[in-house]
Amino acid sequence: MTEGQSAGVPAARLEQLRAGLATVERRIDAACAAAGRPRSEVTLVVVTKTYPASDTRLLASLGVRHVAENRDQDAAPKAADCADLPLIWHFVGQLQTNKARSVVRYAHHVHSVDRSRLVSALSEAVLKAERRELGCLVQVAFDGGTAQGRAGVPPEQVLEMADLIADTPGLRLDGVMTVAPLTGPLTGDPSAAFTRLAEISTAVRASHPAATMVSAGMSGDLEQAIAAGATHVRVGTAVLGARSPLG
Ligand SMILES: *Cc1c(COP(=O)(O)O)cnc(C)c1O
Repeated sequence: MTEGQSAGVPAARLEQLRAGLATVERRIDAACAAAGRPRSEVTLVVVTKTYPASDTRLLASLGVRHVAENRDQDAAPKAADCADLPLIWHFVGQLQTNKARSVVRYAHHVHSVDRSRLVSALSEAVLKAERRELGCLVQVAFDGGTAQGRAGVPPEQVLEMADLIADTPGLRLDGVMTVAPLTGPLTGDPSAAFTRLAEISTAVRASHPAATMVSAGMSGDLEQAIAAGATHVRVGTAVLGARSPLG
């Protein structure tokens, strides 16, 4: 059923995306109801990585306002192509410092801030670009510091990174983000990781009350994330279809 990158006839693709979105919206509604949370507390961020700008355009026509990308090489031309659309762009991938200047041209939020060198590079890029503040989230790693672990800072260093972002010109601390760990003690238990993320968010908000974003949950675990308090779920596959293995 899914055609991956071959978008097919636009009308057919539009219907696929409409159906994918409807399914995800129903899942979010149900998860909010189960958690006793108002639907308005959760923002759907559609992860469009590996899919063409034409899909982003169709999604915008269906009412999507938040989109995410994880590679600047793909995101920069796509954002330029879609510059006429009322979209909020989220950057969610590992970010090299030499890409900072490109990313700040289109991104409203970077979810993957995890080291002081990246904080400096983003700040410098924002000031050079003379753009408004860039929203930054601290990416938290729950994989126990293994070499193969995901990007992110260990839980005990999040407050320090949050303070650094908040004190850096051109940057605004928006909150915290995680990806359910593939290694370490919380592997296979996204609920535990998302609950710890919510606790970390509470601690961060004690000194930074405006840093309210809790970015957690993807196609496979958005229910657990919403139950634990996520404010932003990042969903790709369940809306757009399975990505090709190379994506
Ligand atoms: C790709 C990606 C997602 C979306 O994953 P799906 O399983 O396709 O929903 C979410 N977050 C990040 C950081 C990603 O790279």
